[in-house]
Amino acid sequence: MKFPAIAVGSLFVFSHFAQATPLKVVASFTILADITQQIGGNEVDVKSLVAANGDPHSFEPSARDSRALAQAQVVVVNGLGLEGWMDRLVSASGFKGQITVASTGVHTQSMLEDGKTVIDPHAWNSLANGEIYAQNIMRALEKADPQHATDYAKRGEAYIEKLHQLDGWAQQQYAAIPNNRRIVLTSHDAFGYYGQRYGVRFSAPLGLSTESEASAQQVAKLIRELKQRRISHYFTENQTDPRLVRQIASATGATPGGELYPEALSTADGPAATYLKAFKYNTEQLVQSMH
Ligand SMILES: [Zn+2]
Repeated sequence: MKFPAIAVGSLFVFSHFAQATPLKVVASFTILADITQQIGGNEVDVKSLVAANGDPHSFEPSARDSRALAQAQVVVVNGLGLEGWMDRLVSASGFKGQITVASTGVHTQSMLEDGKTVIDPHAWNSLANGEIYAQNIMRALEKADPQHATDYAKRGEAYIEKLHQLDGWAQQQYAAIPNNRRIVLTSHDAFGYYGQRYGVRFSAPLGLSTESEASAQQVAKLIRELKQRRISHYFTENQTDPRLVRQIASATGATPGGELYPEALSTADGPAATYLKAFKYNTEQLVQSMH
């Protein structure tokens, strides 16, 4: 947005222009972009850097992404080490504004990975955390665009209520399933917070980042564990190469349960076009495999 030359009358033109132009928001990946869109409505123009079905861990930003960031009025990231590529992009773009870290205030979980304790970044997969994300994004929009603060608050509160309802629904779904059946094999460790919240145990050949690699030894150990636990189903993930998890599944006799959407929404015509739809779809598929 170019500031008009200071002249008599330009103030009116400027304020009129500001009212009609939506707030420019850049979010690092599709789930954050959707939460922002749900709360921001017509008052925001949201761009996701990582596209639908894209991997947020191993993203390679383009010059276009850098330009979008430079023009942004609000930038929303997950934090917790998810977007390892973000710092470099921010400094390349020259963006000087405030960055909203959507996970701020979440009670984090860690995992042991190759002997090191690593914070799990996938906090949004528990809807209790999703409510915190929505709060943080709602406040960031209110602050950046106080003129529409009541709109953001109204839509934000209604959206948080929906998250709350869906969280309760998911707990009910799992309550009917015995503990020893709540075991799932997926590609990478994206469901730590989900597992903690809804009482499901997840195993995966890849660690907290899809960029990690599994050694032959780790794979052999995982296959032994899965056989012991008599795991019956495995799931692929929309944003990750399914070959490794398929290979492991075939060695254990597990059958395909379907495709999950842990960290990238589908395109608009897919089954997981919003955060709420993705969560519901994932839960329905997981629960179905346990019956
Ligand atoms: Zn991940």
